Amino acid sequence: MSPLLYAVPVFLGLIFVELLAARWMGRKVYRFHDAITSINIGLMSECVRSLLKLMSVFVYAVVVEKVGAFTWDLASPWVWVVAFFMYDFFYYWAHRAGHEINFLWAAHVVHHSSEEFNLSTALRQSSTNQVFYWAFYLPMAIVGIPVSVFVLVALASTLYQFWVHTRLIPKLGWIDLVFSTPSNHRCHHGRNPYCIDVNYGATLIIWDRLFGTYVAERDDEPVVYGTLVPLQSWNPVWANVKNYISMVRDAWQAPRAGDKLMHVFAGPGWTASGPAAPEQDMANRYAVFETPSSTWQRVYGMVATAVVFALFMHLLMVAPGLSVAARIGYGLLIALNGITMGWLFAGQAGAIGLEALRVVLVFGSLAAGLWFTPAPATVRVVAAFGMVLSLVLLARARGERGDTVAALPGAQA
Ligand SMILES: [Zn+2]
Ligand SMILES: [Zn+2]
Repeated sequence: MSPLLYAVPVFLGLIFVELLAARWMGRKVYRFHDAITSINIGLMSECVRSLLKLMSVFVYAVVVEKVGAFTWDLASPWVWVVAFFMYDFFYYWAHRAGHEINFLWAAHVVHHSSEEFNLSTALRQSSTNQVFYWAFYLPMAIVGIPVSVFVLVALASTLYQFWVHTRLIPKLGWIDLVFSTPSNHRCHHGRNPYCIDVNYGATLIIWDRLFGTYVAERDDEPVVYGTLVPLQSWNPVWANVKNYISMVRDAWQAPRAGDKLMHVFAGPGWTASGPAAPEQDMANRYAVFETPSSTWQRVYGMVATAVVFALFMHLLMVAPGLSVAARIGYGLLIALNGITMGWLFAGQAGAIGLEALRVVLVFGSLAAGLWFTPAPATVRVVAAFGMVLSLVLLARARGERGDTVAALPGAQA
């Protein structure tokens, strides 16, 4: 059974706690469109991960069996200590490569595409990371760290990294010098000049201090979150493919073979004419992407996310017994929801019609008993109710004018 079945509700509960705490402290650390997009990106990434993880764990297990240099006693604490330090060390280099090599950045950029910084940002994970990053941990397999230890250490590292995504926890003194903490990680997500390519650590920050990538958060310069080339979209699929498309386009258009390779393997923003000029426009650098939204749109967004979340939890529960095709089907449904929601939030033409079509297809097939056979009566009734409620909310969202765009500095219509 997936540990996410337990972790995801805890994560959502903590996001709710952070929202309440921020309100109590009189601070605004969430924006609706951004947070829903983060959650949709996270759901999509987990669907892909559940498929690809099998592949990477399989390769790891084969390497341990064929070339594992040592046999470790699982009862000894040493295997856990060694595995923890090795995993954290290789995570540092995988993460650093993810920022400093363009094709790896194309995958990792998703995590940095939010212009907010809160616990929902932690869920904003790449769907394509899984294709490349397992290779960085193969040295652990080569020294024979058992696959069960590797999986648990990796899981603990992922869970640890959730709490560092918050603005509400201040600097923590000496702890900031040893561990990855909210203060360190705020810098990592910043686009201020001093925040570029720093603080890669997962659990420990000592690797950054050792290899010269550590900076401390500055009190005189608030961190501005996001990337130098902003995403400017609420579409989770676009967030995952945008940088690949621009990388392939740049490589394609480069006249020399060497330059083509540089567009893939050099740092993000590399150009044949010299280093990129990220400093062009400081006002632009600090602009925040926002689109108008109405109360009804927000209510609709919340209901639709709750529904897709239920679908995701159901997938986690039944996944072990599902065929790969069925899992891909679930993933596609979740991705489709993300796309239509992104278009709806951005007020794109045809978004309401497309979303209505999606609602009728998904709920309609459930209500008509076409999805699960035999579908329990309660599921069919709830689906029919969900379809009607969604369509009513969509109709209301359509009638309301957006009301938040003017309130935000640097907002774009
Ligand atoms: Zn990063
Ligand atoms: Zn992060």
